[in-house]
Amino acid sequence: MFKAIYLEKSDSAGFSAGIRELDDSDLVANTGDADVDLDVEYSTINFKDGLAITSSSPVVRKWPMVPGIDGAGVVAASRDPDFAPGDRVVLNGWGVGETHWGCLAEKARLQGRWLVKLPASIDTRSAAAIGTAGYTAMLCVMMLERHGLKAGDGEVLVTGAAGGVGSVAIALLAANGYKVVASTGRSAEADYLKALGATDVIDRNTLSNPGKPLQKERWAGVVDTVGSHTLANACAQVRYRGVVAACGLAQGMDFPASVAPFILRGVKLIGVDSVMCPMEDRLVAWQRLGAELDAGKLASITTETDLAGALEAAPKILAGAIRGRLVVDVRR
Ligand code: NDP
Repeated sequence: MFKAIYLEKSDSAGFSAGIRELDDSDLVANTGDADVDLDVEYSTINFKDGLAITSSSPVVRKWPMVPGIDGAGVVAASRDPDFAPGDRVVLNGWGVGETHWGCLAEKARLQGRWLVKLPASIDTRSAAAIGTAGYTAMLCVMMLERHGLKAGDGEVLVTGAAGGVGSVAIALLAANGYKVVASTGRSAEADYLKALGATDVIDRNTLSNPGKPLQKERWAGVVDTVGSHTLANACAQVRYRGVVAACGLAQGMDFPASVAPFILRGVKLIGVDSVMCPMEDRLVAWQRLGAELDAGKLASITTETDLAGALEAAPKILAGAIRGRLVVDVRR
């Protein structure tokens, strides 16, 4: 038997989310030909987990579901020759917690091809603290650099700065010598954002309303976790040939923009997806996280809870009320 968050939905009973004791046979019956058995140690609450646990968006596409798009733990058994009992691994995305039972549970059955072996410098708690949010922040930095951004080019804007992706993005950009400006709706977090490495903090209201198609050029690069008018205004403020990495929709999925920044200033808008991201980029991202993310800064953005706390946190992350990253010790 093992503990898990369990989501159910039916026409008669509607939606429910709670903690259940499940049998190993339930796990086997619901995870098809998955070839690695994982003793999960830590999971997390990401924005997408918040959507799944509150059923506020159709993230879950198979019922019943164990949510949890991130998991870090130790391989218990493997039918994949690339993994052996005792390996420390991290799982991010691949539809886990959406179409395949996830990691807000003491046990998971996953495909070996989804797993990343952790670098020696990252323990399982830190891997979960980084989680999809932190690994997506690293993918954003990689995309900005792949499309020409270099430290010294000028200011880099990070939106949704006090959230999970935003907090890690600030720490990573600062570690690489970039001058980072944080956009937040939480002015009380200015000291937190500066301690992570932001040189300046701006009010997100300056970006979140409809704006002109071309505005004063300011940003050499942007990491946008917010979408909607914020992304449109950020693009309108990017300097000639600057680059924007767009990964989120905290304000909205819409993009009420014009082509002006792209065709008149050569601005590059790069989409970042973590879920189906090829293994090649994942390996680079996790190696770089191990080398570049300061352990003290990671600790400063991380809080910890248990499975019951994860249930309570789900609506809070959707309300933008969780600072940084929330790790879930699934064994507590
Ligand atoms: P968080 O909730 O931790 O952070 C989101 C932040 O966005 C909030 O903390 C808040 O920051 C800001 N925000 C919230 N609501 C609004 C609003 N209405 N208008 C403007 N800003 C707002 O979530 P994550 O960091 O985990 O994820 C951020 C986004 O990135 C989400 O949309 C998520 O779905 C997406 N994402 C996408 C991935 C991908 O693969 N493309 C992977 C991971 C995440 P502040 O208080 O500082 O203003």
